Amino acid sequence: MILDIDSIETFYGETQALFGLSLNVEEGEVVGLLGPNGAGKTTTLRSILGLTPASIGRIEFDGVDITHEATHKITRAGVSWVPDDRRIFPTLTVERNLSIAAKKTRFREWNMGEMFEIFSPLEYLLHRECENLSGGEMQMTAIARALLGSPGLVLFDEPSQGLAPKIVQDVMQTITRLKQEGIAVLVVEQNALSALEVCDRVYVMDMGRIVHHGPARTLLEDDAKRISLLGI
Ligand code: ATP
Repeated sequence: MILDIDSIETFYGETQALFGLSLNVEEGEVVGLLGPNGAGKTTTLRSILGLTPASIGRIEFDGVDITHEATHKITRAGVSWVPDDRRIFPTLTVERNLSIAAKKTRFREWNMGEMFEIFSPLEYLLHRECENLSGGEMQMTAIARALLGSPGLVLFDEPSQGLAPKIVQDVMQTITRLKQEGIAVLVVEQNALSALEVCDRVYVMDMGRIVHHGPARTLLEDDAKRISLLGI
């Protein structure tokens, strides 16, 4: 198991956001984390990354307890993040944003040639300052940055948010490619239908708790269950 979250409770000051949340991801598995606004999906990612550490419970990545580890050590161990707001340095070029993020871990290393193969426009954007990129170009840069960090697990937060359908399709294809390469993915998505199509399993959250988990296929096929859990 690459990620094992056991009964975590996470707080923002006195406000509790996660209540005894347990979730796991196998190597090479694509897992979706779905649910309404404010359910605690982003907080789950922030807890894994050590940005808002869990106060109670335990998080293991690749067999190591990372519950209270510093974020830079967690990413160096092989957890990459594609945040919903991309967090690209706007005044730096694409090339510089990517080179800052490149590192080696025990997992597969990716090179720039592979980035151009996955996202062909990137090659022509290398010298562009990131503040001049479109939303889709920004997302490509954020995903390439995550891959150049040689991850064993990639956390995607709302990867399709604000993107044109063609780009959403590219993002979902990239997630499938990661799976083929044996890299695990945990994807938070409002666009539940496209997530269900790429995920092996899903967890549905509400009010800081997991309210359902199981194969993505079950929710795709069972209209009544999907509508009651996801409203779609
Ligand atoms: P969304 O899709 O709207 O981001 P989410 O499922 O990702 O929803 P979270 O952002 O994790 O939900 O929020 C979970 C709970 O924690 C919510 O009640 C939210 O108001 C609260 N929360 C999130 N960030 C903070 C913060 N910085 N300070 C205080 N409370 C917060």
